[in-house]
Amino acid sequence: MADDPETEVMSHVNRAILVVEDEKPIADTIVYALRTEGFVPHWAAALGAARAILAAETVALVILDVGLPDGNGFDFCREIRTKYPVPVIFLTARSGEVDRVVGLELGADDYVAKPFSPRELTARVRAVLRRSESVPLAVGGKTPSVAGPWSHDSAKCRIAYRGAPLDLTRNEYRLLATLVAAPGRVFSRDQLMHAAWDDPGAAMDRTVDAHIKTLRAKLRAAAPEADPIETHRGMGYSLREET
Ligand code: CA
Repeated sequence: MADDPETEVMSHVNRAILVVEDEKPIADTIVYALRTEGFVPHWAAALGAARAILAAETVALVILDVGLPDGNGFDFCREIRTKYPVPVIFLTARSGEVDRVVGLELGADDYVAKPFSPRELTARVRAVLRRSESVPLAVGGKTPSVAGPWSHDSAKCRIAYRGAPLDLTRNEYRLLATLVAAPGRVFSRDQLMHAAWDDPGAAMDRTVDAHIKTLRAKLRAAAPEADPIETHRGMGYSLREET
């Protein structure tokens, strides 16, 4: 298996996964699938137990159900975001929940709609972990492309600004990659939506705005004095041309 790049990557990362799901048969399926793939799942049937596990363990990722006996996953995701830099994958039961995960910026890294196959879920877990793995951009893989202060490694789906790697969700990454490809060019919301969303028809303008907002917050964290995304009223967004 040493020549399997996936195994190679995964061997370096923390494999503990917190599974927050109150329906035991579903939780059992998830725990079994994760264990089969070499992860170390910790199951919590309620938010209280999930908090205790997060306080005691360093987990690499959280799989989070929405409807739980002592609260809801949306609020808990916000709570996690204030305390831990851990990626979150939502398990959603209804299309209304999917809309909230996608439309409202909760900081979720991905979601899987019930019913899902264990294989689909573990594939998402691996993909999110690959993205969030904090490997310096220039190490391994192909050389990232550089445009002014931006460094974009498309092989690893990673973007760095002024040397600071950004921890981006899938749609944030795709949106920013579009802007980085042409600094100075103004993209309409419609263009950005088509570039960043698999199903742009389901997204709304404010979804682009919401993602621009979270991107700006992440860029502020990386470079507090810079504000590289420019708003063009009635037109869209561009990246400031910097050298
Ligand atoms: Ca539930």
